[in-house]
Amino acid sequence: MTPPSVSANFVGATGADSASLRETLRPQVQGFSPYVPGLSIAEIMERHGLAQVIKLASNENPLGASPVVMRRLKDCAGAAFRYPQAGTPRLRKAIAAKLGVTPDMIVPGNGSDEIIDLLIRVRARPEAEHFLAFSPCFSIYTLQSALQGVAARQVPLGADFSFPFEQLASLATPESALAFVTNPDNPSGHAVPAEAICQFVESLPESCIVVVDEAYVDFALPLETYSMLPHLHKYPNVVVLRTFSKCYGLAGLRLGYGVMHPWLADALMRVRLPFSVNLLAEEAGLAALEDDVFYAETLRVVVEGRGQLSRRLTALGCNVQPSLANFLLFRLPAGCALTARQVFEALLARGVIIRPLESYNLPDALRVSVGTAEENSFFLNALEAILGN
Ligand SMILES: *Cc1c(COP(=O)(O)O)cnc(C)c1O
Repeated sequence: MTPPSVSANFVGATGADSASLRETLRPQVQGFSPYVPGLSIAEIMERHGLAQVIKLASNENPLGASPVVMRRLKDCAGAAFRYPQAGTPRLRKAIAAKLGVTPDMIVPGNGSDEIIDLLIRVRARPEAEHFLAFSPCFSIYTLQSALQGVAARQVPLGADFSFPFEQLASLATPESALAFVTNPDNPSGHAVPAEAICQFVESLPESCIVVVDEAYVDFALPLETYSMLPHLHKYPNVVVLRTFSKCYGLAGLRLGYGVMHPWLADALMRVRLPFSVNLLAEEAGLAALEDDVFYAETLRVVVEGRGQLSRRLTALGCNVQPSLANFLLFRLPAGCALTARQVFEALLARGVIIRPLESYNLPDALRVSVGTAEENSFFLNALEAILGN
């Protein structure tokens, strides 16, 4: 049965009318450009009429989802009609046990993106305070802050993507509500030992919350050297962000978390939407934490694949940035007749999606996620063919 058409009722809401109504929206919303995600496989299949497309654009897990997680999702599908348990206590407990902290230090979210948004809203006073970050940085920090009327104070990364911590600290004032550090960094893969971040924290006022985004830290071995978690007990103003989107292979379910001192975790838990972590995501997260085999296999495939990509990109004359993450940033060989954008488009036509970096202000660079050995070879062969032409 066709529902009755309602479009006639909307005639009055088009044209000049809606333009003036739009002006009633908050100014931060009127000027807002949303996050630009990587292209999807379906989009490229359709655009280029391809039967097979590989996606190495969003740093997803090359092995897919863990079989343990898939079984758990099937087993729990029948519970989809229920609301999840408020505050996801089982997941908080399981994550805490894994990390060796207390459950009152864990804030689960709809991806770690939600925790970033919550931290800004809980801490930064609109139009009065700002946040500190390097430039370029993960765009969610700047986007969600701008939406709240919180300005950015940024210092450019070093030419080798190193972190000029002293310069960033020199921008700090009592109005610095938050500082973001991504370690390992996206899109470069550059990472520093946690000791360097400790020094940075100690050079800032304690009123500034330092958010250390460890979305990729699982791939930075040894973990104890790079993660801030072993140091968290010393700093009540430090937050560590982790996600299930990368190493745990759950990007589509949206699950991440922050680890922070209870004074701050309590604030986030009180203001967050009650069911932002859905019932299946919670179950999947619990199952993922139990599957040590899948986690170890992911690390093995990523570390090997990172070496494979790095060696062959270098052999092709590309300039490859050293990376401790599950992706590599590279520049085309000196004297290459094609721009990074053209190479990106040529790869799309051959069924390979990687990430152009104009949105990071790096128009001459490209980022490729580490795939399976076969996916990496397919990408490298396609690139070789493109550069050879
Ligand atoms: C992928 C990524 C995240 C994780 O985002 P989710 O919302 O958990 O999927 C966080 N920070 C950075 C820098 C990332 O690249």
